[in-house]
Amino acid sequence: MAYRAVVTGGAGFIGSNMSRALLERGCSVVCIDNFLTGRRTNIDDLLDNERFELIVQDACEPIEVKAPIDAVLHLASPASPGTSAVSYLSLPFETLDVGSRGTWSALRLAHGHGARFLFASTSEIYGDPVLSPQPESYWGNVNSIGPRSVYDEAKRFGEALCAAHIREFGMDVKIARIFNTYGPRMRPEDGRVVSNFIVQALRGEDLTIYGDGSQTRSFCFIDDLVAGLLALLESPHTGPMNLGNPGEFTILELAGLVRDLIPGAGEPVFETLPQDDPKQRRPDIALAGEVLGWAPKVALPEGLGKTIDWYRAELGIG
Ligand code: UDP
Repeated sequence: MAYRAVVTGGAGFIGSNMSRALLERGCSVVCIDNFLTGRRTNIDDLLDNERFELIVQDACEPIEVKAPIDAVLHLASPASPGTSAVSYLSLPFETLDVGSRGTWSALRLAHGHGARFLFASTSEIYGDPVLSPQPESYWGNVNSIGPRSVYDEAKRFGEALCAAHIREFGMDVKIARIFNTYGPRMRPEDGRVVSNFIVQALRGEDLTIYGDGSQTRSFCFIDDLVAGLLALLESPHTGPMNLGNPGEFTILELAGLVRDLIPGAGEPVFETLPQDDPKQRRPDIALAGEVLGWAPKVALPEGLGKTIDWYRAELGIG
């Protein structure tokens, strides 16, 4: 099935992997990116492909792309909770903007062209969940004025916009609730836990555990996530769907796995837990299984191995 897709955030971590996957299946890609958190190096090698077009602009501004457009994927957003320069804490207004005005602008484009739409939502809309694993029917536990709220509430507003477009216009809109994802093309300085641990370990530095490391996350390898997003995009399903790997690990267990895979890594060191850091997170992916027949295939040690290879090359550490 070859089609023409607009991908906002097409030079970002998920976006650049998605752009590659779309090109590999014969589709054409119009990548919209302002390189706020995306990277030109993520897509440099795609620029020669005649089915790949880059438009450098903020997704919040009106997006003008000539017909035909079959699909719009709104993946643009800062997504790291840390304190790095590309984190949503460092970019609060840009994050609120791209989740609200940006989603509206991308939805307008899809509506105008009769295209299907996929919104990259997040497990963060569940906040610090009191129910585990989290099914799509769970309404969440979000601090609406805490530091993470710039991301969580922007994504929740984006979901509300998507739902309104389904109700008002009968649009074909999919809401992918993406759980923690890792893999090649995430910036080394991104600040999220997998990239931090791998980069620290490769440099022989200590691994920074926030809090006591007993909090849990469920980590999905990027290739599995992209396969799930494509299956969702190409399905008739509308509304929310969780996509993630249900394998749940404490942050201490993750540090142990990374240290096992990288000889010369430093020791775990304990730092302050950020405010409102969720204590647990694990997706219920029954819906994705039933509707798409999708489940992740890559186990954490295998995915970490592939990711470590990429960071070695990226950082020039043999
Ligand atoms: N974390 C950590 N050390 C780091 C980075 C993150 O212990 O260097 C913790 C963080 O406090 C959280 C978990 O790892 O409990 C996952 O953090 P991440 O930033 O990857 O994403 P989140 O799931 O919080 O959005």
